[in-house]
Amino acid sequence: MSINETDDAPVYRSLPSSEFKRRVETLWSRYGECDLCAYDCGVDRTAGKLGTCQVDDTAHVSSYFPHFGEEDCLRGHNGSGTIFLANCNMKCVFCQNFETSHQAMGEPVTPDEIASMSLELQARGCHNINFVSPTHHSPHLVEAIRIARERGLDLPVVWNCGGYERVEILKYLDGIVDIYMPDVKWADDRSAALYSKAPGYWSNIQESLHEMHRQVGDLRMSDGLATGGLLVRHLVMPNHVDSGKRILEFIADELSRDTFVNLMAQYQPHYKARTEEFYADIGRRITSEEYDTLVEHGRDLGLNRLQVDRRHMPA
Ligand code: SF4
Repeated sequence: MSINETDDAPVYRSLPSSEFKRRVETLWSRYGECDLCAYDCGVDRTAGKLGTCQVDDTAHVSSYFPHFGEEDCLRGHNGSGTIFLANCNMKCVFCQNFETSHQAMGEPVTPDEIASMSLELQARGCHNINFVSPTHHSPHLVEAIRIARERGLDLPVVWNCGGYERVEILKYLDGIVDIYMPDVKWADDRSAALYSKAPGYWSNIQESLHEMHRQVGDLRMSDGLATGGLLVRHLVMPNHVDSGKRILEFIADELSRDTFVNLMAQYQPHYKARTEEFYADIGRRITSEEYDTLVEHGRDLGLNRLQVDRRHMPA
């Protein structure tokens, strides 16, 4: 069977119930001295204390719907069943969803309610359940998947994150998450600290990518739809082509040349990057030359599943 055609069942379907419950309990306990992401704030979110993600142990969902803007292998004909969590464990100054990720617009939800949303999206024909900005509420989401499984969820689960994870926490997702989809933003810590407020991002995400790839391997498809594996996104940034090159080199040299990599061209300076002179370096859209340089570099490296999409390039 080729790498592009498999008939995977969602991995969480075969996780023993006792192990599922143990993972939920362990993750839930982390709210008390939070180390759910690479910030490792150590705050007690159960007592209302806030870390960098600026939210206690109540999860909020800003929206959920069949999303047709994701990669073809996720959206298919009926859409990717996307559930947007409010807040985020990264603080990118250029975030296009800043109302959701920085300003916490959303309704409080329980794991049971998230499970119901997942089942509703399944009933609407979506091809997967796609948790956006999941990391800071991983306990809620793992419990939601557990509940939804008992009620018949049978779709791949996508972990759509910024990559600022902790390997120790990722290990609790092994056998639960089908598709890891990190947006690998920076290959230099200075830019990560300045633009995403994520110290040590590059060394951290290299470890996380190794762990994600160890768990799920290269992206697998069935009838053109992703069923499991690693899907790496990279939002190409203005004036940071060298950083993008290092990301591609890492993927080719240390993960796999069969890694599915989506080079995204749609960067626009939203939020603070649009208004603050301090971020002028990323205060414009990318050029065709910048994008093409990265595409060429990826091909030279032998990355054979590079998704190239110039539809969103500036005219
Ligand atoms: S999820 Fe991350 S940012 Fe939020 S409190 Fe925990 S360690 Fe801090």
